[in-house]
Amino acid sequence: MRVRNLKGILFSICLLVSSVLSSTYAAAQELSSQDDPAVQRVAPFQVFDNLYYVGAKWVSAWVLETDQGLIVFDSLYGELTDIVIDGIRELGMDPNDIRYLIVTHAHYDHIGGARRMQQEFGAVVLMTEEDWQMTEEPAIYQEYDKPVRHLTVTDNGTLNLGRTSLRFFKTPGHTPGVLSTRFTVYDDGYPYNAFMFGGVGLNFSGVERTEMYINSVKRLQGMPDIDVNIPNHEGSGEVFERYELLKDRRDGEPHPFVDPERYTAWLDQLLVAAEDKLKEEQAAAQ
Ligand SMILES: [Zn+2]
Repeated sequence: MRVRNLKGILFSICLLVSSVLSSTYAAAQELSSQDDPAVQRVAPFQVFDNLYYVGAKWVSAWVLETDQGLIVFDSLYGELTDIVIDGIRELGMDPNDIRYLIVTHAHYDHIGGARRMQQEFGAVVLMTEEDWQMTEEPAIYQEYDKPVRHLTVTDNGTLNLGRTSLRFFKTPGHTPGVLSTRFTVYDDGYPYNAFMFGGVGLNFSGVERTEMYINSVKRLQGMPDIDVNIPNHEGSGEVFERYELLKDRRDGEPHPFVDPERYTAWLDQLLVAAEDKLKEEQAAAQ
């Protein structure tokens, strides 16, 4: 009798669990909050004379304005790409002026809108060879329209547009061909060295890849004179917090995005986390 009751209870629990699972599945069929532009939309804003935020809440996109057109960093994906395009318009610029799209790495959240930017605005897409190759393989997390192969960036390569010059660095680890960029931003005409580390997360596996990542971080640590961290996920650089400070900034106060100490400390944190990961990867490979 008791056993039968227990079976009944277990059966009810199973039903409950399966109904919870199926409702979770149904929710997954709809847009997740990450993918939903209504949840993700952020009003675009200017950060430096020549740099604007046009990204979403969880993943970033930036516009660098030059005298010869616009350079966009990362395209977002799916309906979130509208946030980039609408943002450019809201800031008084024209998406038809996008000359280049720099894709920091070939994960869907950065590359997903690249094909659309090629088709609608004639943007020339730049990526490393390793990450172009990723577009020929099945996508890892989420499918996206594959961009047509345009320009391949090499380590230490440059891009010039008008009077603006960017320098590229291959900083692999997060993907095999993470693309990082150094460029100049201006605060009321005063220049600062900005850097975008193109792939920060440790969501990859293997000893070799982890060693690549560590070498990349060490390389960035050896790069002097970086004043400004421009991240491709806002959380990696406290973009929204800094923007709140920027809005309230008074004349003569320092620009809240100019924070070389925090950038250096952040790189140190990335290295510690990556070295922990390396130990785990080495233990797992035994
Ligand atoms: Zn990624």
